[in-house]
Amino acid sequence: MQLDAKIPSGPLSEKWDKHRFELKLVNPANKRKYSIIVVGTGLAGGSAAASLAELGYYVKNFCVQDSPRRAHSIAAQGGINAAKNYQNDGDSIWRLFYDTIKGGDFRAREANVYRLAQVSNHIIDHCVAQGIPFAREYGGLLANRSFGGAQVSRTFYARGQTGQQLLLGAYSSLMRQVAAGRITLFPRREMLDLVVINGQARGIVVRNLVTGEIESHAADAVVMCTGGYANVFYLSTNAMASNVSATFRAYKKGAFFANPCYTQIHPTCIPVHGTYQSKLTLMSESLRNDGRVWVPKTPGDKRPPNQIPESERDYYLENKYPSFGNLVPRDVASRNAKAQCDMGKGVGETGFAVYLDFKDAIKRDGKDVIAQKYGNLFQMYEKITASNPYEEPMMIYPASHYVMGGLWVDYNLMSTLPGLFVLGEANFSDHGANRLGASALMQGLADGYFVIPYTIGGYLVGMDHSDVTTDHPAFKDAVQYVNERVKRLLAINGKRTVDDFHRELGHILWEYCGMSRNDEGLLKARTMIQALREEFWQNAMIPGSDKDFNQSLERAGRVADFLEFAELLVIDAFERKESCGGHFNEGYQTEENEAKRDDENFCHVAAWEYKGDDTEPERHIEPLVFENVQLTQRSYK
Ligand SMILES: Cc1cc2nc3c(=O)[nH]c(=O)nc-3n(C[C@H](O)[C@H](O)[C@H](O)COP(=O)(O)OP(=O)(O)OC[C@H]3O[C@@H](n4cnc5c(N)ncnc54)[C@H](O)[C@@H]3O)c2cc1C
Repeated sequence: MQLDAKIPSGPLSEKWDKHRFELKLVNPANKRKYSIIVVGTGLAGGSAAASLAELGYYVKNFCVQDSPRRAHSIAAQGGINAAKNYQNDGDSIWRLFYDTIKGGDFRAREANVYRLAQVSNHIIDHCVAQGIPFAREYGGLLANRSFGGAQVSRTFYARGQTGQQLLLGAYSSLMRQVAAGRITLFPRREMLDLVVINGQARGIVVRNLVTGEIESHAADAVVMCTGGYANVFYLSTNAMASNVSATFRAYKKGAFFANPCYTQIHPTCIPVHGTYQSKLTLMSESLRNDGRVWVPKTPGDKRPPNQIPESERDYYLENKYPSFGNLVPRDVASRNAKAQCDMGKGVGETGFAVYLDFKDAIKRDGKDVIAQKYGNLFQMYEKITASNPYEEPMMIYPASHYVMGGLWVDYNLMSTLPGLFVLGEANFSDHGANRLGASALMQGLADGYFVIPYTIGGYLVGMDHSDVTTDHPAFKDAVQYVNERVKRLLAINGKRTVDDFHRELGHILWEYCGMSRNDEGLLKARTMIQALREEFWQNAMIPGSDKDFNQSLERAGRVADFLEFAELLVIDAFERKESCGGHFNEGYQTEENEAKRDDENFCHVAAWEYKGDDTEPERHIEPLVFENVQLTQRSYK
C-alpha cells in the first residue's frame, strides 16, 4: 500500500493556509447532524472534544478515569513551547520549526512540523484567553524559560504544573459544551475495540469499568486521543492507566502503527530505588535551566557530594557540549548519563544516578528566586527522597517517559483507516525520533484546538453517509470479541500476578531496547517476549469477576496488549538499521558515540500493517522529503 501523507503543495509557510482554504466546509446547520466519538480527555482529547462541540458537532467523549481532569496530561510539569519571541532572543516560527526537525534527528515530516510551529502562537493566545495562569515577568508579559535542544527561551509555564493548568482550561471548555448538551461524557469507560463498517471507522466498543457492562457506540467518525505507551517499560513516568490497548486494537483493525521503536527516555527522573516500585517520578527538564549535571571524576568515589571539591567534579555535559551545555536534547543527555554510570562514575547506593546541582544558581540568584521557579518540584523531590535539594544536589537517572511512535496519520491527522483520526501522543507525531521538551503539550493542543476542527470537516463532507446503528453485525462481532477476550483472561486462573509479568516485560525492554540496542539483543528480546506472553496466557492470576469493578482485570487486559505490542516494538527497532534520536543501535554510531543516521536507506517513517496473530506484520514506508532544511549530523557542541 502506498502511504499518502496528503501534504499540500506550495511553499512551506503557505501550505496550511492553502489547505484550510481548499478543505470542504460543513454548513453550520449540517454540523449538528454529525456525531463524533472522541476517546480521551487529556490535552488532545479535551481540546478536540470542546472545539468540535463548539463548532456544532455532537460529541461523545470517553475516558478511563472518573473525571476528564484526571487524564495523564495533568502530570505535565515544565511548560509548553511557542515561537512568540517575547524574549527578543532570536526566536521565530522558522527557528522553532528547525529546532524541532533537528531535535527529532530529521525523522519528522517538514510540513507537519512547520504547521505546529505556526499554530504554537495561537495556542498561547487561546490559553491566556481561557485564563491559564502562565508565569509572568514583573512588567506583566508572559515569562519564558529554556528547554533542551534550544538556544532561545520559548517555554511558557505555570510553575511546575503547566499540564494541570492547561488541562483545567480544556476541561472548562469541555464542560461548557456538556452543559450546552453538545457533549455527552462517558467516564470510567475503556475502549476495547474499534468498529469498522464499509472500510470506515464508525464506532467503538467499551467496557464500563464500574459495572462491567460492555457498551457499543456508533458515530460518523472516531477521534482517538488515548495517549502514549511508555508504560510498556513497566517503570515509567506515565500515569498508571496509560496504555497501548486502544491504539493497538485499532492497529488490529487496519490502522498502521508507525515507528513503534521511537521511545523517549527522559534524563532527569528520580532513580529506581527498589524492586517493588511501580512508578518513577519525573524531575522536570526545566530544572536544567539552572541545575548543573555532574559526576565525580574518579570512578567509585563514594564521598558525599558536598565533600567532593570542584576540581574533582566532571560537568560532563558542559564540557562535551559547550554550546548547549546542560540543555542538550533528552536522548543525548540520557545516553551520556548512562555512559558515565557504565564507567563506574554513577553515584548513590546503586551507582545508577548522576547529580543535578543547584548550588551555583542559589549562590547567583538567591534561594527565593530558585524556590519561585521550582519550589513545588523541590518539595516533591524532598518528599520522595528525604533529601533537601537546596542543600545537596539532586540525584537523577534516565527513565522511560514518552513515545514518539503511534498510529500513522496523514497531514489531516487521519489514520490509514478512513474516519479514524488520531491526535496527541497517540499518533506517530510531529517529533521524529526524539521529542524536544515542552513540545508534547504544544502538539496535543495544536491537534485538538487548531487542526482537527478543520480537517474533520473535509472528511465528513465526502464520507459514505449510510446510516449505521449499533445493531449492525460489525458491532455484534466486536462485542463478541471483547466478551470472549475478557472471559479468556478470567479463565486462566494461574499463579503469577499480572504485575509480575509486566515487571519482567519492562526489564526485557529496558535491557535490550532501552537507551541503547543492538541486533543480537533485539533478537533475544523478541524470543523472551514471545515466551513471556505464552506463559502469561497460562499462568496469570486474575481474581474477581467481569461483572463489577475489577482493577486486576483492567490491568490484565492492558498487559496482554503490551505483551503483543512489545514484539512489534522490537521488530521495528531491529529493522531500522541506523541510529537516530531515541533509537540508538550500538552498531551505528559515530566515532564520538553519537547516533549515526543512514539517510540514504532510512530517511522514512516505518508504518506497520497487522496481518494476523500468527503472521509477520508488514513494513510499509513513507519517505521523508526535506526541501527546506539540509540533513546534517546533529551537533550540540
Ligand atoms: C511527568 C510528566 C511530565 C510531563 N511534562 C511535560 C511538559 O512539561 N511539557 C510537555 O510538552 N510535555 C510534558 N509531558 C508529556 C505530556 O504530558 C504528554 O505527552 C501529553 O500530556 C499527552 O496528552 P494526550 O492528550 O495525548 O494523552 P493523555 O493525557 O495521556 O490522555 C489520554 C486520555 O485517553 C484516555 N484513554 C486512554 N486509553 C483509553 C482507553 N483504552 N479507553 C478510553 N479512554 C482511554 C485516558 O483516560 C485519557 O483521558 C510530560 C509527561 C509526563 C509523564
